[in-house]
Amino acid sequence: MLEKEKILVVDDELSISQACKKILTKEGFDVEIAFDGSKAKKLIEKKEFGVVIVDLKLPGLSGDELLHWIREFDQDIVCIVITGYPSYDSAVTSVKEGAYDYIPKPFTAGELRRIVRKAVDRRLLLRKMHQLQEEREKNLQLLAQEKTKLKVVINSMTDAVLVVNNKGELVLYNLAAERILGIKKEELERPFKEVVKNQTIRKMVEAIMDGRGVFALSRETKINGKSYLVNIAPVKEDEEMLGLVVSLRDITEIRRISDIKSAFLTMVAHEVRSPLGIIEGYLDLMLKGVVEDKKKMVQMLQRAKIKVETLRELTEDLLSLARMEAERIKKRLVPVNLAEIIREVVDLYQEKIKERNIRLKMSLQNIPPFLADKNDMVLLFTNLLDNAIKYNVDGGKIEVGLRKAGSKIELRVKDTGIGIPQDKIEKIFEEFYRVKDEKTRMISGTGLGLSIVSKIVNSYQGRIKVESREGEGSIFSIYL
Ligand code: ADP
Repeated sequence: MLEKEKILVVDDELSISQACKKILTKEGFDVEIAFDGSKAKKLIEKKEFGVVIVDLKLPGLSGDELLHWIREFDQDIVCIVITGYPSYDSAVTSVKEGAYDYIPKPFTAGELRRIVRKAVDRRLLLRKMHQLQEEREKNLQLLAQEKTKLKVVINSMTDAVLVVNNKGELVLYNLAAERILGIKKEELERPFKEVVKNQTIRKMVEAIMDGRGVFALSRETKINGKSYLVNIAPVKEDEEMLGLVVSLRDITEIRRISDIKSAFLTMVAHEVRSPLGIIEGYLDLMLKGVVEDKKKMVQMLQRAKIKVETLRELTEDLLSLARMEAERIKKRLVPVNLAEIIREVVDLYQEKIKERNIRLKMSLQNIPPFLADKNDMVLLFTNLLDNAIKYNVDGGKIEVGLRKAGSKIELRVKDTGIGIPQDKIEKIFEEFYRVKDEKTRMISGTGLGLSIVSKIVNSYQGRIKVESREGEGSIFSIYL
């Protein structure tokens, strides 16, 4: 059941106020009476009256004053003024000041009913209006909250996000877009093709905007030297295209790794092909029975064997590289004694050293064990020692030194071999790089050893120093 509308009648004339109460109660309203302004104020503060009927001539606080107070207290209370003929003008003033209507004395029950009904309708209308307004404000608030949330979310993304409406204007973008594409605030609402200069992205946007067969697109592009994967998808609602969303993901690192891998594969294939070709050539000759001289045959087999050795070394180096890549994140760090490792590796090379008549001198300081992956340390020293032997001269010298140098550990391998040309020193750490000249022609190798060394040293944030003179020898110093 609807709540009864509350009506207050303020009149000091008992007969009038009581008559009003009777008529209006009969009409189904909840009616109260006040004989003066201050009593009326108290009642209004306590109860929620929808309509107040005020006699302008009141003892104490005047009707006008009361009206004024009501307006300030709650402007949604609908006021009706009762006025005698002489104060007709003041009724008009009161209406002008905010009273809704007036009723001149004397009045009939019908007149009162009609005016009060009108006032109650007005009151209902006001209430409805306020409800709608409140709802609207609430919705606006929610919308603002949603907008803020959306903004926070898209601004926290590392991918650039841009939204274009169906007129081709940029309507939303995030911080990453600002950074990557250099978009400025004043460019919002401007045509996308004027804002974004990158041709690939523009063409993609145009292709989708065309509307012919609306589809999502994905392509790679470069911006300021970096690689990005651009994805564009239309925004649709009930088959109608509202615009599109562009996103850009930085794939520079992925692209770099993928390029290195392709180049590496090409190099591997190349490095494998040439020894295989040579071996195949020798085998063919022998199978065809062209070579009859046994000495020559043995010579060919020996050469083929050297090539097979090269291939085996290559496979081992490649496996070491692959292992290092895979274990980069899960190194097994244990306290290692580098001096001990050096001695173990040297032991394995004793025979080779003797074969070349090389004198090896070691001066290993007893440095306290430090955290490292033992395999890494073995590989590191093996490669350096192997080179110092390979690129040495028969009867040459090798000095291995280990000592503390400040906060670092210094590992030094010095040889009296062929040395490295100054302009090649930078390159020897590249994968597959080998110095190719008369002196190295007969020395087999893969060109991977030093790249393994450099990867290991880098993974310990270490440093490598190379000093070398052609025909005199080389010194490789590692600082860990
Ligand atoms: P590999 O020895 O298998 O060819 P590395 O990566 O170990 O590959 O070395 C790259 C190149 O650097 C070698 O081919 C050689 O020309 C040069 N090099 C490395 N160590 C020495 C050294 N101790 N003395 C002279 N040249 C060296």
